[in-house]
Amino acid sequence: MSGQEEIKPGYLAVVVGGAVAGAEAVGQLTARGIRCVVVEQNPRPYGKIEDGLPRWHVKLRAQEYAKIDAKLAHPLVQFVPRTRLGREIGLKDLLAWQPSTIILANGAWRDRPLPLDGVDAYVGRGFYYQNPFVYWFNHYDDPDYDGPAVEFTDGGIVVGGGLASLDVVKILMLEAVVRALKARGMPADPVTLEHGGLKRALDERGLTLEALGVKGCTLFYRRTIEDMPVADPPENATPQQLERNRQTRRKLLQNFQQRFLFRVRDRWVPIGFLAEGDRLAGLTFARTEVVGREVKTVPGSKAPVRAPLTVSSIGSIPEPVAELPMAGELYQMKDRRTGEVEGLPGVFALGNAVTGKGNIIASLKHGKLVAQHILENYLTGKSSAYEEILEGAAAEAREKASLVAERVRGARLLPPERIRAILDAVRKLQTAVGYSGDYRAYIATVPPTS
Ligand SMILES: Cc1cc2nc3c(=O)[nH]c(=O)nc-3n(C[C@H](O)[C@H](O)[C@H](O)COP(=O)(O)OP(=O)(O)OC[C@H]3O[C@@H](n4cnc5c(N)ncnc54)[C@H](O)[C@@H]3O)c2cc1C
Repeated sequence: MSGQEEIKPGYLAVVVGGAVAGAEAVGQLTARGIRCVVVEQNPRPYGKIEDGLPRWHVKLRAQEYAKIDAKLAHPLVQFVPRTRLGREIGLKDLLAWQPSTIILANGAWRDRPLPLDGVDAYVGRGFYYQNPFVYWFNHYDDPDYDGPAVEFTDGGIVVGGGLASLDVVKILMLEAVVRALKARGMPADPVTLEHGGLKRALDERGLTLEALGVKGCTLFYRRTIEDMPVADPPENATPQQLERNRQTRRKLLQNFQQRFLFRVRDRWVPIGFLAEGDRLAGLTFARTEVVGREVKTVPGSKAPVRAPLTVSSIGSIPEPVAELPMAGELYQMKDRRTGEVEGLPGVFALGNAVTGKGNIIASLKHGKLVAQHILENYLTGKSSAYEEILEGAAAEAREKASLVAERVRGARLLPPERIRAILDAVRKLQTAVGYSGDYRAYIATVPPTS
């Protein structure tokens, strides 16, 4: 961005979070000549791809990194790394810039709390949540690692059921075997063991879990195996497609179990916990009955399960942002499909922050959908918000509402002075974190964190 650059009236979007969903929105907008400012909390913009996916997803990560880089290296993008919404800058500040639109693609980084009163007191002492646990697994080997610590122990339990919880289970199995092999003077690394599967790795060494003295771990799921969201049915699925999807889910899980040798207990829900001194020593489960979407506990079915390590992997939710309305643990959306945030016209949210699905394709699709809605409806002034102002107004207020709507609509196309003012503010933020303005040159200097 040079001070001499000629700036014409145009649109400018501020995107918070530069990972799968944010970069997709940026790609859609820049392809139509729209400037984007990307505010990213981390030095690198890859989000869950880098810190959520366990490190054995080597190819997937490389592919996704390249896709994100290609979108963020566009000349219309101003990248602002190491700048966190809610820390270095607030939503209020971004709103005060008066950009054409603000797009929140900040993902879901807070673990959904395990609903057992008092259990969080044991975090770090026998009890862990998925996000810091996977982060630890990805980074504990880094020479200057100072992230969350995990006291790893074999024989753990995992509460969950989605794809991410299967990765957590695999981490528990791989770590237990790697440590047992190491103790026998047979070093191995978890990424190599994951690629061929644990069963094969043990077969090749003429070993079994029992021979190694590894107990392995157990996944507890509150619904039935066929309900596990490890494969989605098509939209508007027929009963036959739904049935096929149930079978696919069962097969997928069996396949995982055969390769990674963990146990699954379905239809058990945690209802309490066991503590020993200051450590969590396991959970108490109740048997469930699944009636449609409802999960009911079976009276008198209480079963304590002792375990030295418990990981809760029951989903991630977005971090609250000051000034952003919440509906329970999620952002309050006017319309989840279009990403419109309730009460803040021009502010949109997309990807994991909204979909509730831990899935790259879902984040990508939602990023695209919301960006297209912004392009086709919001920026052109046809958004439902705009229509509603007109439609919802009483007849006598219609003329006034029309004026307001026109102002909002006109405000989306920014005059050169406004664009320049925003770019000046962005430059200050970039300078504060030592960002030169050249994405490719910058990213080459920020090594992967694992
Ligand atoms: C263990 C695990 C395994 C998974 N396995 C798979 C798999 O096999 N296949 C699959 O398709 N998906 C998988 N997923 C899910 C997939 O990784 C995510 O759904 C997807 O990457 C989310 O993309 P996103 O852009 O919506 O969010 P994120 O990747 O979370 O991106 C959000 C971005 O916003 C930034 N940010 C957050 N807060 C702020 C803030 N306040 N200010 C500025 N920046 C901020 C973050 O640093 C990040 O860069 C897995 C996830 C996990 C956790």
